Amino acid sequence: MNREATKARTYRGRIAPTPSGYLHLGHGSTFRIAMDRTREAGGVLVYRTEDLDQSRCRPEFVEAAMRDLRDFGLSWEEGPDVGGSFGPYVQSQRMSHYLDAWRKLHASGRIYPCSKSRKDVRGALSAPHADDSDPVFSPELRPPEGTGSDATSPGSMNWRFRVPDGKTLSFEDGRCGPCSYLAGKDFGDFLVWRKDGFPSYELAVAVDDVAMEITEAVRGEDLLKSTARQILIYETLGVQAPDFYHCELVLDAEGRRLAKRTGATRLSESDVAG
Ligand code: GLU
Repeated sequence: MNREATKARTYRGRIAPTPSGYLHLGHGSTFRIAMDRTREAGGVLVYRTEDLDQSRCRPEFVEAAMRDLRDFGLSWEEGPDVGGSFGPYVQSQRMSHYLDAWRKLHASGRIYPCSKSRKDVRGALSAPHADDSDPVFSPELRPPEGTGSDATSPGSMNWRFRVPDGKTLSFEDGRCGPCSYLAGKDFGDFLVWRKDGFPSYELAVAVDDVAMEITEAVRGEDLLKSTARQILIYETLGVQAPDFYHCELVLDAEGRRLAKRTGATRLSESDVAG
């Protein structure tokens, strides 16, 4: 479908919380922008529960996220609690979609099984990395081309996308303007499948945004680089990416971004909550 045809489609936005803790004001702010952009465009808002990290996600957080967002004034037309024609809207119930995508990526020859541990990945860094939480996977850790080509399922392995080193991934962000990232430098081979049997965030989000016919993905600007990775997935699957709008992050009094793991105040207990 070309761009003109896409523009003529109904705007479909989404909010996609990860129920690994209570939502904080940063989520509320991003999701409200997603809702406002959907309403301005006369579109449909989808709610999707991103619960693939089964070691961190818990049912009580799934319920609390929906309750807190409704109390914050948000509403959606499609989601786990209201249905819709693109369901289920819970990632852990969408495994067949992700396995289909794994098969397509596998057939393309762009992914390989990776036995390197997190420690190996960090150890192979040639220079200290500014953002230690997101080390660039070193090409010397790659297995030869063709490794894993006879696999018929992901099995209990991590699978990585072999990025085209030196290729620039560009997109026009609705808020940040033109964005470019260099594969092999800004990010390296990234996970598409985890050895615990679930797809990575990058793969699941890309698959779901297409399956749910999302026309614009609104999310925090901490995910800008992820968008470049997801564009590689879209290209390889031969599907059109949504448009992107990355929101400014909400910072705490010390200028740090809010995070569940550092104990940010729950949205429902924030001063601004409705
Ligand atoms: N589930 C992600 C989060 O809670 C959002 C992913 C996305 O919007 O692409 O941060």
